[in-house]
Amino acid sequence: MGAETGFRAIVVDKTTDADGAGHPSASLCTVDDAFLMAGEVTVSVEYSSINYKDGLAITGRPGVARVWPLIAGIDLVGTVEESSDARWVPGDTVILNGAGLGESHHGGLAERARVAGDALVRLPEGISARQAAAVGTAGFTAMLSVLALERAGVSPDAGDVLVTGATGGVGSIAVAVLSARGFRVHASTGRVDELGDYLRKLGAVAVVDRATLGEPGKPLQAQQWAAAVDSVGSVTLANVLAQTRYGGFVTACGLAQGSDLPATVMPFILRGVSLLGVNSVEAPRPLREQAWARIATDLDLGLLDELTCEIGLEDSFHAAEGILAGNLHGRTVVDVR
Ligand code: NDP
Repeated sequence: MGAETGFRAIVVDKTTDADGAGHPSASLCTVDDAFLMAGEVTVSVEYSSINYKDGLAITGRPGVARVWPLIAGIDLVGTVEESSDARWVPGDTVILNGAGLGESHHGGLAERARVAGDALVRLPEGISARQAAAVGTAGFTAMLSVLALERAGVSPDAGDVLVTGATGGVGSIAVAVLSARGFRVHASTGRVDELGDYLRKLGAVAVVDRATLGEPGKPLQAQQWAAAVDSVGSVTLANVLAQTRYGGFVTACGLAQGSDLPATVMPFILRGVSLLGVNSVEAPRPLREQAWARIATDLDLGLLDELTCEIGLEDSFHAAEGILAGNLHGRTVVDVR
């Protein structure tokens, strides 16, 4: 596409009501290069994806888009067209997850992007652009969670591990990767009947009804988990901590149930449990490269393809509503072209 040509983008903007209040809303627009923000690398975007955060931004919910107007999309995979960053040359296929994309910098739900070179990762050997977008921020975060557990010394022989929000983007990839590494994964979901078989196919040895974790429980409960990957937060995370074995580790990256944490210190002070925070947005470049190298080697790409659904740019609005309503599972890739 030539630099002067208009291109399609999902743009979040604030409209002002009669009462003067501003309300964000998103629409599919045609914009041009003058609309793009500063950055060293211009990318012809091939794929983006729908993450929980994209759901919030596209439906005009607060907390994700922080400048207006803003192209939505916290992920992109595409081909470098122009670069003033010596690390990148035209023709390179690059991945960008987070790093302000779709929050404070124009994002990946567009045919074209101009971004900083520093957070870009080269597409690893053996994985396609579409598959990298299917992994997206959710899968990248799942891998960051696995790496955090490994840094803590958790190995498959430590005992059973729990993944919450298991049919979601983070959860699905965490189940697949941990199972492939030899962990005995218990997958917690609100869709036991509908998606239990899906989770077993990803490698889960058992499926747990999330209702057993969703109501306030005792500060210390029967010790079940050597480790856990949580993307749900709130009461669920408090119960997971209360069920974690002596010396166990729990990663926290999400707030699908809520951002509160109604827990006590008992699991920490009586069982030596550790809570490990995971933030993909600001992950430094070496960690990004490590995570993507491990995704390329540890994730069964056939399974990834099976948990991926592909849509066009114009379908992103429907998918955004779906992810917030809990109707989606696995990963949704957006072919933006
Ligand atoms: P998804 O919507 O794909 O998955 C979330 C899953 O959580 C759902 O599929 C559902 O799984 C479960 N869930 C939803 N609502 C509730 C509820 N009320 N109580 C209990 N469980 C619930 O989102 P993602 O996987 O993309 O993201 C998950 C979370 O992680 C989000 O909060 C997101 O913002 C956060 N996140 C954080 C990142 C970071 O860098 N810290 C990066 C990526 C994501 P099921 O139906 O199986 O129960």
